[in-house]
Amino acid sequence: MDNKLINRRHFMKSSVAGMAGFICLPFTDKRQGKNQKERKLIYRTLGKTGIRVPVIGMGILSSGSPALMREALDAGIAHFDSTAGQPQQMRNEEMIGEVLKGVPRESVVFGTKIHLLQDYKTGLYTKAATEDEFLKKLDMALKRLKMDYVDIVYHHMVSRRKSAFHEPVMKAMEKAKKAGKARFLGITTHSNVPEAVHAAADSNFYEVVMASYNYKQKNHRQVKEAIAKAANAGLGVVAIKVIRGGLEKGEKPVNPCASLKWVLQDSNVHATIPGFSNFEEMSVDLSVMEDLNLTEAEKNDLKRGASVPGLYCQGCGQCLQQCCAELPIPDLMRSYMYAYGYRQPALAQNIIASLDLPRHVCKDCSSCAVVCLNEWNVKGKICDIIRLRDMPSGFLV
Ligand code: SF4
Ligand code: SF4
Repeated sequence: MDNKLINRRHFMKSSVAGMAGFICLPFTDKRQGKNQKERKLIYRTLGKTGIRVPVIGMGILSSGSPALMREALDAGIAHFDSTAGQPQQMRNEEMIGEVLKGVPRESVVFGTKIHLLQDYKTGLYTKAATEDEFLKKLDMALKRLKMDYVDIVYHHMVSRRKSAFHEPVMKAMEKAKKAGKARFLGITTHSNVPEAVHAAADSNFYEVVMASYNYKQKNHRQVKEAIAKAANAGLGVVAIKVIRGGLEKGEKPVNPCASLKWVLQDSNVHATIPGFSNFEEMSVDLSVMEDLNLTEAEKNDLKRGASVPGLYCQGCGQCLQQCCAELPIPDLMRSYMYAYGYRQPALAQNIIASLDLPRHVCKDCSSCAVVCLNEWNVKGKICDIIRLRDMPSGFLV
């Protein structure tokens, strides 16, 4: 682990220096000179990729704010991540392309995720998940981003070992790398995390793994073991879903610094990409790099936070077997989290629209058979969130 007192200009020099073969060019961002205060950044290297990034990056999901992204650049954040998929995410990619205009491409590390259709009950790919479809989606993302290449292209939302080795996707990724459209290849996993991370570690193919990892996971010890294996195999490890899963009404917020520090205490985690959506959240997230050690107060916050269910679905999948209508409950819970936790109802609506749901959802069940690991009232949440389906999208942002 490297600790440095560094400002943005120095950061650009040192991060680019860490990427063999790349040239350091000065920033042309007009905001340079503003906010040049010394800030402590902690760097780690993404495994054998050799890419050095600050441990706090920026996941661009919640915010499509160019001002926030510019501020993040000013603060020394140089690791950004997006998802190619839903309309809001596509608009975000166009925004990223605009913000990065005039910024030397080599001075930022950029990852994007390509999601192909899976059977939500089995977590396995459908026939629609073809090599062409993956490459088409990547090309469209690059066009929106106005980039010739991404540093990391992720095979998105892998939950089963078999999916990690889905041949059409692997072939597409190999082609993308050969064509210079991606420097490194990775997978992301949000549910059944240990199985997917073990698969990536065994693959001799993937170079980065992006995995849900937080102290509220009931299986976080197994996730930790899998991540250690991946890091030992030379993969870069990026932790996601570390802090802001959102809260139910009346729940006390969990200390975000404590959550970030908890995951960064694991030296096998090389980076995180919190999805901060405003300047205050960004400032809080960056502040953890002042000192990664947990204070006594933060340890107590974590103990309290562990008992707050919040809106984070454990992704255990047990509900899929229990529901008589075979509803994609984890996806519906994700949609609920986006609406109430991230305040992104349009994104939540897009997820619902992408699911193959019956017209009447939960209406035929007098009582719900689902026993959720989080002890959620699943039926209540579904009946609430499904109302978005019939809402004209123009009312939503
Ligand atoms: S109430 Fe809804 S979630 Fe529960 S078993 Fe019935 S269809 Fe499934
Ligand atoms: S049982 Fe609950 S925690 Fe587990 S996947 Fe289903 S909704 Fe998520």
